[in-house]
Amino acid sequence: MAKKKAKNKAHRKRKEKVRAKKVTQSAPKEEAKRELKIGAIDEGTVIDHIPTDATFKVAEILDLENQKGIVSIATNLQSKSIGKKGIVKVGGKSLTQDEVNKIAIVAPDATVNIIKNYYVKEKIKVKTPEIIDNVVKCSNPVCITNNEQVATKFYVAKKDPLKIKCHYCERSMGKDDIKII
Ligand SMILES: [Zn+2]
Repeated sequence: MAKKKAKNKAHRKRKEKVRAKKVTQSAPKEEAKRELKIGAIDEGTVIDHIPTDATFKVAEILDLENQKGIVSIATNLQSKSIGKKGIVKVGGKSLTQDEVNKIAIVAPDATVNIIKNYYVKEKIKVKTPEIIDNVVKCSNPVCITNNEQVATKFYVAKKDPLKIKCHYCERSMGKDDIKII
């Protein structure tokens, strides 16, 4: 019995120790550092090499407004390969193939990095698909896809700059006409 009591006491002591951790008034160095690195995510996805003007399109495709994890969006960053670029980091999210395909349409040079424990576990280069199913809205108002419950379908005629052609009305669309569904 006495032994048990002693054990309990020791346990309580340990607990108290944790509680006694002092937080100084001025932010400790480590904490400040962590704050500056807020963009780093332990697990999730980083989409890099997004053309600057497509950064927020990518955010829209991934519905980042409704994400629960850490989201950081940076744009107008210098890039050796594509001039100016954007980066999107999403904590706790892995992309579906559908999302990767959508990203490829607005950001054909993007790389998708899968992050695990703060390290890049896998690097995927997006690839513009040959056929784009149910991703882009047809710009032709009389197209069947705008008037009936028909999923859109486009053929990629040219990859860079992107040119696509509607399967139903044969309307050709360029990068600037493209609206993601
Ligand atoms: Zn059409």
